[in-house]
Amino acid sequence: MASLAYAESLIRTIPDYPEPGVGFRDITPLLADAAALRAVIDAMIEPFAGQFDVVAGVEARGFLLAGALATAAEVGLVPIRKAGKLPRPAASVSYALEYGEATIEVHDDVPAGTRMLLVDDVLATGGTLAAAHQLAAALGVVVVGTTVLMELEALGGRAVVGDVHAVFTA
Ligand code: 5GP
Repeated sequence: MASLAYAESLIRTIPDYPEPGVGFRDITPLLADAAALRAVIDAMIEPFAGQFDVVAGVEARGFLLAGALATAAEVGLVPIRKAGKLPRPAASVSYALEYGEATIEVHDDVPAGTRMLLVDDVLATGGTLAAAHQLAAALGVVVVGTTVLMELEALGGRAVVGDVHAVFTA
């Protein structure tokens, strides 16, 4: 089993991406390493083990972790998608970005009372996961926790989302 310190060492910071002044955390080298991926998936599940019926991953990088997490935890997966991608009636929440607005959606047939773990790769300003919480509330599901691979502390997302389990903090 790879150590978490080794897994963290695989996350690269790409300067000036996607725009000047931004340091983008690139998790693709970690995803490509089998042992590191397994270590972080286990660490993302650990505080919530046995407490949830489904994981809900946020498009797009959240999907990469949510699929692995669902399989490891032996639960199902609910995709939270960008607007207009789901074929059936969906709950929808719009939220502000630095420039403009984004909308995320989830099929509205997830049974009320389902115990859901919300998953994304990175917590930045918190807008995405706060919107995911609103979607879950619209469905009447029970959010048992929120888990991310990395929290970018300086961006203050924790104050917006509330309690978040982050494997790594930068
Ligand atoms: P927030 O809504 O918290 O500001 O931004 C979080 C969303 O933006 C996540 O879905 C995440 O995928 C993406 N994101 C923001 N910054 C980064 C970053 O530095 N690296 C990665 N991999 N994703 C980021």
